[in-house]
Amino acid sequence: MNNYKFIVNPIAGGGKADSLVPVIERIFKEHGIEFDIYWTKGRKDGIEAAEKAAREGFKCIVAVGGDGTVNEVLNGIVGTGAILATVHGGKGNDFATAVSMPSDIETACQVLLKGKTRSIDLGKVMDRYFINSVGIGFDAEIANRVNKGIKFMKGPSAYTYAFLEKLFSYRSVEAVIDLGNGPQKTKPLLIAVGIGQAYGGGMKIVPDAIQDDGLFDICVFDDSLPRLALAYHFPKVFSGKLKNVKQAQMYRASEITISLSEPRYLHMEGEIFFGDKMHFTIQPLGMTVLTGAGEPV
Ligand SMILES: [Mg+2]
Repeated sequence: MNNYKFIVNPIAGGGKADSLVPVIERIFKEHGIEFDIYWTKGRKDGIEAAEKAAREGFKCIVAVGGDGTVNEVLNGIVGTGAILATVHGGKGNDFATAVSMPSDIETACQVLLKGKTRSIDLGKVMDRYFINSVGIGFDAEIANRVNKGIKFMKGPSAYTYAFLEKLFSYRSVEAVIDLGNGPQKTKPLLIAVGIGQAYGGGMKIVPDAIQDDGLFDICVFDDSLPRLALAYHFPKVFSGKLKNVKQAQMYRASEITISLSEPRYLHMEGEIFFGDKMHFTIQPLGMTVLTGAGEPV
């Protein structure tokens, strides 16, 4: 790899992403490697900036932010041949973890410089690409609540607050899900679709997901648990044990059609959408990403 474009979201991680820039500059200068830095100016700016960088011939586009920044860079470079990379710069860094990027920025820069790549599957829903995970329903409602901001709270405590707030107020709707073997009617609390295993900062919602098998891993969590029992069982998601709860059914499919009886939120790597019809398609090995796999952490 001989040239890198860093797309920095200066507000990601409450300023964490921005604080990594001096380290990146120092290390890349020391190595005499060509690089350039762009600071995003608002939502969706990262998409355009990444697309422009790829067009200008930058080989590796590095999202310096959280999963939302990764998703913007991804959507800018799909089809350009540029390589997607990231560092841990946000609140949620699930994609960075999924591609084994070390959380320490000095070590992460060494991994970037080595330039080891692999191809992983690329998902698409609602006209937008994703590389790690999507959730519909209860989890998206929580993500939306956190995105809107909870006064005086950040990080995990904001999620806990939103979880408790939505636990008793979220109303699930009927869903018809087709995984390629005919429609199934259900009433899910949430539906998660993953290429990677985790979302929301380490919640292993589809713990057996494989990034390059050409299939989505899907968790359909039906809404039959009393909400208090849900409060007890749901934290198991962090250890990947939610799959042992009988309400969580796991599936694999390459195409998914979901039709909800009323629109609900969908969260995709930090972005929130709203709708009632969702059609997921997968492009096997559709994106080349920079990986830290096999490197000392
Ligand atoms: Mg898979």
